[in-house]
Amino acid sequence: MAQSRNLRPMQYFPIFLSLTGRRVLVIGEGEAAERKAGALRRAGGRVATAPRFGADDAGLLDDCALVIGADAPDDELQALSAAAQARGIPVNIVDKPSLCSYITPSVIDRAPLSIAVSSGGAAPVLARLLRARIEAMVPPAFGRLAALADRYKEEFRRRLPEVALRRRVLEQALGGRVADLMLAGDDAAADREMQRVLQGEPDRAGIVYLVGAGPGAADLLTLRAQRLMGEADVIVHDRLVTQDVLDMARRDADRISVGKSKSNHSLPQDEINALLVRLGQEGRKVVRLKGGDPFVFGRGGEEAAALAAAGVAFEVVPGVTAALACAAGAGIPLTHRGDGAAGDGAVRTLTLATGHLVDGALDLDFGMLARGGTLAVYMGLDSLPALRDGLLAAGLDPATPAALVERGGRADQRELMGTLDELVAGGRAWSTGGPTLALVGAAIGRQVRRHA
Ligand code: SAH
Repeated sequence: MAQSRNLRPMQYFPIFLSLTGRRVLVIGEGEAAERKAGALRRAGGRVATAPRFGADDAGLLDDCALVIGADAPDDELQALSAAAQARGIPVNIVDKPSLCSYITPSVIDRAPLSIAVSSGGAAPVLARLLRARIEAMVPPAFGRLAALADRYKEEFRRRLPEVALRRRVLEQALGGRVADLMLAGDDAAADREMQRVLQGEPDRAGIVYLVGAGPGAADLLTLRAQRLMGEADVIVHDRLVTQDVLDMARRDADRISVGKSKSNHSLPQDEINALLVRLGQEGRKVVRLKGGDPFVFGRGGEEAAALAAAGVAFEVVPGVTAALACAAGAGIPLTHRGDGAAGDGAVRTLTLATGHLVDGALDLDFGMLARGGTLAVYMGLDSLPALRDGLLAAGLDPATPAALVERGGRADQRELMGTLDELVAGGRAWSTGGPTLALVGAAIGRQVRRHA
């Protein structure tokens, strides 16, 4: 399961250092020292080299911006590291992390674009594998694309002084046609397209995407949801949306929590609707993130209607709804084909119902629900006694298998299996307070346990 939060804080602060015209010192003789000297020269450094670092060589450090040591006797490298650090000069001794005040990342050079990858020494092999993947994702054309963007940077600033609008226009160009042409190797056409974008009237209209965030695990987002989260300039989210999912959003996007919990609405629905309309009218690109699927007990329909009424463009992106995530995680099939033999009854319907209590009662058609099929009840825990009473009164067999699933689809999913009576008796004590769904029906008895 994806766990995107870091296990420990960042060990090194990444920066890109300008060495143009600055003195840098490389000590050592051998391949590593030569490689380092070459890389520093390519970055514009004035490279001074010496095979050794003796007791009288402290003067070599004068005016240095950076020091690298490799392939020299240990005591000399130690002295070099100490001398550099005493003067506050960043120093790296190849393959000796304890003597380094900085480390060098693995670099993908698509000048003017550079991508640096480091595992902070924890897993150099993994960092190299990752580098290879990124390299494949970012072909050399991206360097030319960055150079093109650089050439037009000032003109875009002049023509579109408003930051958010300029960013959106550039995003569309560099993420769309201009990039396509560049990747296809037609640099001249890419340049013409960039000019066309520059001259054209920018599209100022905002848009609101009602996006299903799924059950909480970041890797159960759809690719579309992930892409939109990377592009949005505002994210409006519920309490159900997990931090793992929010971590996928663009770092500099504004985040607005309208955190709803059961009966404790921190922002009433009409205010959420008004907020979305206002953001859309301001021309923002908004991702309205909702747990599971936006149109399953998510009031996405009301938000869509408000946006439509206000003339704000919107799109709906489906998500993995809780019932599906809970069932998959618990190995519980929701339907069953059946072969007609006794004990192999077919399960042909799946009903998604809300356990939302209206004046303390559950307003559901129990007659229909008790006739078979699988029932998934959202917001199930408070309404569990009413659900049991209603179903049993309508003739459901009290031995019908049922389950409570907490935090379905996440790494810490839990299930409690039993009859409705057993779940009512034990559910409260079992619950740890996470979102919980109730499943009822013959198919629940077909749970398939995975091998541990
Ligand atoms: N739109 C959401 C449902 C929102 S209603 C969806 O499609 O999933 C909120 C209820 O959904 C919660 O009270 C709980 O019953 C259920 N729920 C949401 N996420 C869940 C999860 N990860 N595990 C179990 N139930 C969940």
